Amino acid sequence: MATRKKSAEQEVSVEDKLKSLYKLQSYLSEIDRIKTLRGELPLEVADLDDEIAGLGTRINNFELELKQLDENTKLQKGKIETSKTKIEKYNKQLENVRNSKEYDHLSKEIEFETLEIELSEKHIREYAQEAASIKEQIEAANELLKDKTSDLEHKKQELDDIVSETKAQEEKIREKAKKTEATIEPRLLTAFKRIRKNARNGLGVVPIQRGACGGCFNKIPPQKQMDIKLGKKIIVCEYCGRIMIDPEMAGISEK
Ligand SMILES: [Zn+2]
Repeated sequence: MATRKKSAEQEVSVEDKLKSLYKLQSYLSEIDRIKTLRGELPLEVADLDDEIAGLGTRINNFELELKQLDENTKLQKGKIETSKTKIEKYNKQLENVRNSKEYDHLSKEIEFETLEIELSEKHIREYAQEAASIKEQIEAANELLKDKTSDLEHKKQELDDIVSETKAQEEKIREKAKKTEATIEPRLLTAFKRIRKNARNGLGVVPIQRGACGGCFNKIPPQKQMDIKLGKKIIVCEYCGRIMIDPEMAGISEK
């Protein structure tokens, strides 16, 4: 039994190998087409997700700044209260002043605290201005966030629709591709996948078209064309490295 199986494996002709590869190529190309249908949408959704997260962080930072300004304002108000209390105390002391030196000293203290109050009030005004500007920026960021969120919802919906429309179709093709892959010897499959990965159009196996490679359209020497037609060995294009197959073998008619 085992020997029979082995000999059967050895009997897989190059032609059959090429046919399997070409079949696999068609399935993979179909999947590529479905992915093209989805286009840039997955990327756009990911970008919007990032942007929305960024806006959230920005708004959060603004709010922290507002909180800090609020705390600073409270601090300055506290200082004003302290200065006012001091001034009140000095004014009372002024009523019982005993000499001009004491009077001068108290007057200077009152003047100093008055200046301190003015300075604090100036700070409070600055904080209020800063807070107003931050609030404006928060508002703008929130507006942008709203737009981006609704953009994201639309794009997600669009993507979901396309994915669900094509999902069943794609899974069916993937299943077929998997089955076909299982019939191809690993070494050849690996080589094919490598060629496909490096090819811009995702084609690893191409039929000859009017004596040229169907991948890069470079002319193929007549002897090579004959060899490809015979299908006795796997031949790659000397320009692009793609595996070439006779159109008839691939089951397509050459136009
Ligand atoms: Zn080529």
